Amino acid sequence: MKSIIKGATTLVLVGSLILSGCGDNNAKNGEKNSNQANQEANFNVTGLPIVNEAVTLKMLSPKSALSPEFSEMEIFKRLEEQTNVKIEWENIPDTDFAEKKNLLLASSTLPDAFYAAGFSDYELITYGKDGTIIPLEDLIDQYAPNLKALLERRPDIKSSITAPDGHIYGLPSWEENNLGSNPFFHVINKKWLDELGLSMPQTLDEYTEALVAFKTQDPNGNGKPDEIPLSFMHMQWCMDIAGLFGAFGMPDNLEHRIVRDGKVIFTAIQPEYKEALNYFHEKWYKQGLIDPESFTQDAAQYLAKGKTQDVTLGSYIWWEVEEVVGTDRSQDYALLSPLKGPNGDQTIGRANGGGPGRGAFIITKANKNPEITMRWIDQQYEPYMAAQIHWGPIDVVYEKDENGKLVNLPLPEGVSAGEFRQQVSPGAGAPGVITIEDLGKVVDLEPRAQQRAKDLEQYYEAYMEKENYPSIFFEPEELNRINKIEPELIKYVNTQRGKFIVDGGVEEQWDSYVSTLEKMGLNELMEIYQTALDRYNANLNS
Ligand code: CA
Repeated sequence: MKSIIKGATTLVLVGSLILSGCGDNNAKNGEKNSNQANQEANFNVTGLPIVNEAVTLKMLSPKSALSPEFSEMEIFKRLEEQTNVKIEWENIPDTDFAEKKNLLLASSTLPDAFYAAGFSDYELITYGKDGTIIPLEDLIDQYAPNLKALLERRPDIKSSITAPDGHIYGLPSWEENNLGSNPFFHVINKKWLDELGLSMPQTLDEYTEALVAFKTQDPNGNGKPDEIPLSFMHMQWCMDIAGLFGAFGMPDNLEHRIVRDGKVIFTAIQPEYKEALNYFHEKWYKQGLIDPESFTQDAAQYLAKGKTQDVTLGSYIWWEVEEVVGTDRSQDYALLSPLKGPNGDQTIGRANGGGPGRGAFIITKANKNPEITMRWIDQQYEPYMAAQIHWGPIDVVYEKDENGKLVNLPLPEGVSAGEFRQQVSPGAGAPGVITIEDLGKVVDLEPRAQQRAKDLEQYYEAYMEKENYPSIFFEPEELNRINKIEPELIKYVNTQRGKFIVDGGVEEQWDSYVSTLEKMGLNELMEIYQTALDRYNANLNS
């Protein structure tokens, strides 16, 4: 009997434990549901503010030494007012950001989002695959009308930010000004041409004749043979003669990689390249028309050659005429369009890459409000707001002109445009895309940039290669192989390129040069680039 009672008591106890357990769960679920309901009632799927009751999100962002904390920036104060979303910024000095970011990603104290975060492709894939950061394409679809419209209008941007696994892990950042489409501006001393009675060269041979005249006819009139007909910096950005290879039908570039009809071509084994090297050695180097220091000098030495007391520089390659010879002297120099080669070819390269950054905004798994976060960041993909995020707000940096375009206000005294930008905006790495259509319509280019855009159009665009190798999202395995093969291979090509121009011997050494490249993995490298380009183009059309 006792034992039965005991047993019954135990049953009751167990039963009450079970009941109270159930009760607790029900209470928790109820709480959760009402929280969720409250959250939903607070969130506005369209319109502003985004939330009725303020919500706080934690974001981590780098900032430059000249920038105030983002919480102090006018542009973010305005966004908070409009959206009712409060950002608790943690600003890391940009120099320490990479280290801090990696520590956080490996820890359990993630922010809700990374802003202007500059995630690499490798980081996007790695942390996307392990779930540390979340895929964004569904959120974009539902809560980011500005960004969604941009991606529909510009499939190239969508393709560029889509990871090889089909997800979008990071949002784009881009100022699409195209000013880097041809970095190799080719400059000649027009005053010397006039003094020597020569017209602007139209062909490579006319150009060679001008260089000979510069060398032999004392155009600076000081009685000394001190003229430098042509100087450049071998295989350096904006200073190399890569563009001049175009006179033989195929422009070169620092990667030795161009695209025609969707096919990747390695320039440095092509017959056009070989012919160009022969010409540069026979006609130029052997005749003393190339500054021998073109293969060794640094930028300081190079730039000094434009500013010697007696003018000594005949022709050079650089991104901007003035930077080499100074503002006053620049009046005596002129840009050359691509020169027509011995077989009538006339073309200039289109720089590779240049697409959007794709790691500018990241949402982590710690974020309890991804919808609110997406709506908040989407404000920055509205073109006028994108411009203000990148350069600074209306009434501080810009005013609207009669056509509604943002035009620059005068700078405060004693501050350069570059410095001011850092004080009033998160700058170039911030989320937001300013497309080429927006530039000039929504927002003005800086005056220097306007000049460059005009020069590109006037001298180069008509001759420019139609395609380039875009900024492609590689698989980590592809990147590993590229990093394994490419640096040594390019180093060898560049060394040989210099030797062929200086010492000649292209004909005799060509076959062994090409077979060395094949042994170094050239074919595999080109296959990787082709596969990735095919994938990119397939995304473009999907
Ligand atoms: Ca002289």
